Parts: sequence; C-alpha cells; structure tokens
Amino acid sequence: MSNSSSTTTWISHSSMNDFLSCPQLYYLRNVYKDPKTKRKINIINPALALGQAVHEVLEALSTLPVEERMKISLLDKYEQVWSTLSGKKGGFHSEDEEKEYKERGRQMLQTVIDNPGPIAHKAVMLKVEDPNFPIPKFKLSVEDDIMLCGKIDWMEYVPETNSVHIIDFKTGRHEEDPGSLQLAIYCLLVKNLQKRNIHQVSYWYLDSEKEPRKMELPDLDEAKEKLLNVALRMKAARANRAFACPRNGCYSCKPFTAIIEGKAEFVEAKSYQDIYIL
Ligand code: SF4
Repeated sequence: MSNSSSTTTWISHSSMNDFLSCPQLYYLRNVYKDPKTKRKINIINPALALGQAVHEVLEALSTLPVEERMKISLLDKYEQVWSTLSGKKGGFHSEDEEKEYKERGRQMLQTVIDNPGPIAHKAVMLKVEDPNFPIPKFKLSVEDDIMLCGKIDWMEYVPETNSVHIIDFKTGRHEEDPGSLQLAIYCLLVKNLQKRNIHQVSYWYLDSEKEPRKMELPDLDEAKEKLLNVALRMKAARANRAFACPRNGCYSCKPFTAIIEGKAEFVEAKSYQDIYIL
C-alpha cells in the first residue's frame, strides 16, 4: 500500500468502533492473525450475510452508466450473490432462517427498484491507487502516520451545484448511533480525495424507508480532532500491546476467542480473512 509502512496506524469506522467498545475486541478482529494461515479471523452470521448481499448488489450498480443501471434485474443479481452466501457460508443454521433473511434482502431491493431516487442519477466514485487494496484512503496525520480508510456505499452527483450526496445503506433494524463518526469519516475522505463540495449526507434505512434520510452535515474540524484522539490511543495500544479486557464480562469478544480456542467451524478463506461460524 503506497504512503504506508508497517508502522502506519490504519483507522476505519469499524476498527475505531471496535477499539472504543473494547481494546481486546479491536485486537482480536483487527490485529490478530492466525499463526498457521497468517490471516485475520472473522465471523459470519445471518445479519452480516444479508448486509453483504444487499450492499454487493447495489454498489455494483454505481460503476454502470445511468441508462444501463435500471435495465439490470437487481433481483436476479441478488440470487447470484446470495448463492455465494447460502448455508454455512452465510452463517445460517437452518433453511427457514436463511429463507427469512433472504426475503428481507429481497424486499429491500424491491424498495430500491420501486423508489430508485439517487440510484437512478449519475454517481461519483473515489479513486483508489492500489487495485490490491480497493478502499479509498488518505493520511489523516502525516506527523503521526495515521491512515484513514473507508468505503462509501454511494455518492450521487448533484449537477446543480457540482457537488456530491454521500449515502450509506443500512440493512439492519437499528439506527446508527447519533454520536457516530461514520458520516464525518466519509466526508473527510471525500474532501481529501476529490474536489467537489459535499451537498448532503444521508443514511438509507432500506428495511423501513423508501428514500435516504437526510442527516446533519458534520463539523469536519471537530470530527478530525476526535478521530485523531482515538487513532493515537489505538497507535499507543498497538505499540504497547495493551489490549486488556476493561470490563470482564460483556461477551462481545466470545466469537473470536471461540475461534482461537478451536471451538468455531471454519467456513472459507475470503480476501485477507479466515471466516468462521459458531
Ligand atoms: S468481555 Fe472484556 S475483552 Fe471481551 S469484548 Fe467485553 S470488555 Fe472486551
């Protein structure tokens, strides 16, 4: 990865959330590598599989010209994508469970088919320098060697103001925490990796809403300060190998300790991770 070295501290919305929730959870999901395979470990479960399938179908559309986009059958594409996540690969424990989750995803895509809104407009994509690491990134701090990275679900082009509308697709039933820095991270990526202004930021709760929900534009100076603060704590934790359990008993780390203890079932190797189910 260019501009980075083994000492670079990488931060993303999910790794930062892990760290804030528990340094040990952060270690297990983002730092630990299986000594045999040299790969990171992760869990697949039905909610994650549903999210992955819907995101994959929708995000693939952004690379197509607008006039081609709605000619594609999203539901056919969904069937194809779902076949790669069926059964254990999606963490499903029964056919009924899989059927229920698959139908929820199908309904979300039907919502987009019936109400395409921004999906039917021109989209903008952030450039990635390295095809082997196709995630937008920039140095949040050169001095402290902190790299911020993140994949934005959709960026609608707004021709009237030559600006962009950032949209994050939500497939879960819970709303994003109001204190979340997710949209601020995306805004910082957009500001630093292209020249257009940011017109709007939205979450699209596909399970329950027919259009993206407009959110307040974040204060980027404030967000950058918060991110740097957390990133420096992450950097110090990595340098000192300080990943101790701060609470002893919340159990969020259990799936990962189960993998390390050989109590989880290996499903497949995917990208840089070994994927397991419990
Ligand atoms: S039990 Fe402790 S180590 Fe595990 S996730 Fe909770 S706080 Fe972290």
